[in-house]
Amino acid sequence: MFDSKNPQRTPISDLGEFGLIDHLVKNAKTKLSNTALAVGDDAALIDHGDHFTAISTDLLVEGVHFDLSYVPLKHLGYKSVVVNLSDIYAMNGVAEHITVGIAVSNRFPVEALEEIYEGIHLACERYNVDLVGGDTTASQSGLMISVTATGRVEKGAEAKRSGAGDNDLIVVSGDVGGAYMGLQILEREKQVFLENPEMQPELGGHEYILERQLKPEARKDIIELLKGLDVQPTSMIDISDGLSSEILHLCKNSGLGCRAYEEKIPISQESLDTCEEFKLEASTIALSGGEDYELLFTIDPKDLEKVENHPNFSVIGYMTKESDVNLITKGGKTTPISSMGWKSF
Ligand code: ADP
Ligand code: MG
Repeated sequence: MFDSKNPQRTPISDLGEFGLIDHLVKNAKTKLSNTALAVGDDAALIDHGDHFTAISTDLLVEGVHFDLSYVPLKHLGYKSVVVNLSDIYAMNGVAEHITVGIAVSNRFPVEALEEIYEGIHLACERYNVDLVGGDTTASQSGLMISVTATGRVEKGAEAKRSGAGDNDLIVVSGDVGGAYMGLQILEREKQVFLENPEMQPELGGHEYILERQLKPEARKDIIELLKGLDVQPTSMIDISDGLSSEILHLCKNSGLGCRAYEEKIPISQESLDTCEEFKLEASTIALSGGEDYELLFTIDPKDLEKVENHPNFSVIGYMTKESDVNLITKGGKTTPISSMGWKSF
């Protein structure tokens, strides 16, 4: 407890983001019998008999999550919705409603907010969700957008982080690392611009990764695809912090370890090329870059033939009873996967 006469000041960085959440809510017991799943997954689940309502919140803060010197406001509005819907899809649900909280300083004119809302409305249109409320307030320092999304998850279809079984296969949708490399391009061009405002940004040839960073999409299509293929993921999480961090979450919550193969990690050609340009190791970026908003899930091995060789899926490894979370490198070496995801603190 914070006592102003005897202030004990523990820096938040001592705990880290996940440690802090654990610390704050570890003793919180839920009271209601319909609270089926509380803190600790991509979304909470509320039991409604034949289905669950999934609920998730994300907060985006200027200077921490976005830099308005290169993020267009319309894209920001779009992304703030999409990152939330991604958490609903990560429960194998259908997103339905959002509310939007916005704190804004007087340096933003009405037109700026209109642009943000253009993006919000566009995302609502694309993902078939309704904006049903929110809150608006003044801010002393910059812009903050908080979105809460709810969705419907059919009973039996829910995919928690904790459901993976021994030998289940680990699958990633799409490709990873692109959003991080898009950010590198934007940061580089920002520096060039700061040093020489006459220079035009050189963004050509990087369209895919820039879009991955500025206008990500949530994988609603993957949820529909899995349903069509009759594949029930045994566990699932969205890739917001980075593949390695999300693999660790699935393993920890499922009480298992895994073996993932470096050569199986899907990376786009544009990301590979850009990594070379920046002299960065593509696998490291794919494992620890954030914000790809792909889905990471496990499946029963009997479903392998439904997903293997599918352009949207990469099977990257399997879960193990032994608790070690390991990467098998291209050279055949076994090395522990450590969390190197985004840390805001
Ligand atoms: P995600 O990356 O999927 O958005 P987070 O890592 O942000 O998930 O959060 C992990 C879990 O902790 C989630 O279940 C989330 O609801 C919960 N959580 C995060 N911050 C808080 C908070 N301040 N109070 C209560 N629960 C929180
Ligand atoms: Mg998530």
